[in-house]
Amino acid sequence: MISSCLYCGAESNTVEHVPPRSFLEKPFPNNLVTVDACLSCNQGFSKDEEYAIALLAQIGTSEYLQAKIEPNGVVDRAFSRSPGFEQRFIDRLKTDENGRVYIEPELDRLERILIKIVCGLFWLQYKRVARPAVLGPIGFWPFNIEDSRPVKAFLPAFTERFTLKRWTIVQDAVFEYMFAKLVNGQLCCIINWHRTLWITCIVPSPLSCPSHTGQQEINLTDAK
Ligand SMILES: [Zn+2]
Repeated sequence: MISSCLYCGAESNTVEHVPPRSFLEKPFPNNLVTVDACLSCNQGFSKDEEYAIALLAQIGTSEYLQAKIEPNGVVDRAFSRSPGFEQRFIDRLKTDENGRVYIEPELDRLERILIKIVCGLFWLQYKRVARPAVLGPIGFWPFNIEDSRPVKAFLPAFTERFTLKRWTIVQDAVFEYMFAKLVNGQLCCIINWHRTLWITCIVPSPLSCPSHTGQQEINLTDAK
């Protein structure tokens, strides 16, 4: 049987890890799951992936993240290889009214790669296919955010409501996620990445999603 790409439904000829290993730290967990992917979905996101990691390393303070920006760290090497890549960050540095410097991220890139990851996590959790087009909206919340949180119903109870045991820990303090129902009944995937960035993404009900990646189910998804 020909398997199809989890992300786009095309014929798959590669597999890839969920979450991608670049989002984790060595030594990698030995129980990482792989999904079928076509070559273009497998490789087409690598720039976005690199961007997300570089961004996280700029804002995070954990040892792992610090190591990435130190000389010869993964982000330092990426910047050395491609000065234009580093310049994109420099161009995005802004100053707020209190004189504090912040980065205005390229949200579209962040969104693309994280939606792809949520698609993979949804598969892990429910063994159902929710393609990127049906996922979202997605939100990003730096861990140390103070006020003016744009999501009303959810974030006030963000840290208090979910006990640790509900998190699926892919790698402790590096990548944790859960699926939880919001007060409005919507299902939400929450990722805690390096305890630096929270990612929230609204996902469809698993019951409305096809159970595997066969052609018939792909048509169902397309007709949605
Ligand atoms: Zn694909």
